[in-house]
Amino acid sequence: MSDEIFKHVVSHAKEYGFVFPSSEIYDGLGAVYDYGQNGVELKNNLRQYWWKAMVQMHENIVGIDAAIFMHPKTWKASGHIDGFSDPMIDNKDSKKRYRADNLLEDKIARYEKDGKTNKAQELQNELDAALLENDLAKLKSLIEQHEIACPISGTRNWTDVRQFNLMFSTEMGAMAEDADKIYLRPETAQGIFVNFLNVQKTGRMKIPFGIAQTGKAFRNEIIARQFIMRMREFEQMEMQFFVRPGTQQQWYEYWKENRLNWHKKLGLGESNYRYHDHVKLAHYADAAVDIEFNFPFGFKELEGIHSRTDFDLRSHQELSGKKMQYFDAELDENGKAYGNYIPYVIETSVGLDRLFLSVLCASYKEEEVGEDDKKDTRVVLTLPPVLAPYKVAIFPLTKKDGLPEIARKIIDDLKLDYNCFYEEKDAIGKRYRRQDALGTPFCITVDHESLENQTVTIRYRDTMLQERIPITRIREILAAEINWHKLLA
Ligand code: ATP
Repeated sequence: MSDEIFKHVVSHAKEYGFVFPSSEIYDGLGAVYDYGQNGVELKNNLRQYWWKAMVQMHENIVGIDAAIFMHPKTWKASGHIDGFSDPMIDNKDSKKRYRADNLLEDKIARYEKDGKTNKAQELQNELDAALLENDLAKLKSLIEQHEIACPISGTRNWTDVRQFNLMFSTEMGAMAEDADKIYLRPETAQGIFVNFLNVQKTGRMKIPFGIAQTGKAFRNEIIARQFIMRMREFEQMEMQFFVRPGTQQQWYEYWKENRLNWHKKLGLGESNYRYHDHVKLAHYADAAVDIEFNFPFGFKELEGIHSRTDFDLRSHQELSGKKMQYFDAELDENGKAYGNYIPYVIETSVGLDRLFLSVLCASYKEEEVGEDDKKDTRVVLTLPPVLAPYKVAIFPLTKKDGLPEIARKIIDDLKLDYNCFYEEKDAIGKRYRRQDALGTPFCITVDHESLENQTVTIRYRDTMLQERIPITRIREILAAEINWHKLLA
């Protein structure tokens, strides 16, 4: 898929009520977006797909919903106050700010495009080493050495590279003097760690077990690009799986495979996914891999799977003075109980907005339809039926002769189980096309024949085939296609 098509996806998202720029009447707010009437349905369905797979399908995983605000010490313990930053650099002429590593990555991509593979590899190695050592001076010298200019001003008049903390802060309390600086959480994971004991004890959870949650996270990204790919307010779906120390490698492999399969079941094309192992590990991790998706702008991270050791629970134990331990009564091969320990953690972390974007990009199709002089392009979202915002659209062919009444009756029978769309305006072909653009898998048309023999026409989104069926069969046809079994069984 080209950049051109990506532009079409972005404008389609707006035109059909999936995603709007935030506060658009004031010209928007950088890297913040709102989900519209159709976007919210797709997003809810994706969240449900994740929740069912992680919580409902696993006896030993439970969910929580922790607050966005957390005690400031949380972020000291997690390492975010001291270490959650990106290297930034400003161009003195354009006054534009960039991530130093992004400028170098773009240069590497350009070398690759021009066939200078050795040069690209050499720069990649130097970049990896500089990031690994947190060597800001080295990043600046690489930018100078490779003559990287600001895309806006075209000059190479750069500031030094500095670290920029990505957490948003605010104050809690009504009086400025009493105010305490608190942060908007940059990840949902810490809400799980601080509740580890609460859930383990009240749920009588036995290791290995997991805690899952979905919710907003906030990062003051230096530069935000590619629509909802990199946002300043976004939603994460994370699960922390607590395991016995020494078994983390085995569980890491398990979740790595499990999560890739979950993505593949969406049916967006298996070759659109790949693993990317991390060379540079975060301060808390002993292994990490990304599941990347083939976005129109290249393979990029969709989900991270991290073996986080006991770093977080241990840090919280140290800073809070509360024991974050688990008593394991199971016996080892010598007949001795494992006893007390701080569990190790495998984390799976996927961005709901990025998942939404991957689904939108892969299901957006522009198809040539019709014959010779009647050739036309139809835009269709080939979403898995269970994820589609509307499952079925019901159209009376005309607004009179009792046809709307029959259509309404069909909707009344279906609407508790399926999100239904009703429309009686415009030619039927136009109505079909509008539903294609929303990804609605079925359209049902009520016409004059329906009055005589209680049949309707059902039209299938992907094949555009139409079939005459008795009204009594509608439920059976819908149920066969719209169910979670297709994705989760
Ligand atoms: P990146 O390298 O792209 O900045 P990350 O490695 O910092 O991502 P994690 O901290 O591992 O990301 O977060 C887990 C997931 O949360 C990511 O895989 C991604 O899907 C999502 N995510 C992270 N940052 C953003 C963002 N700014 N906007 C949207 N989704 C995000």
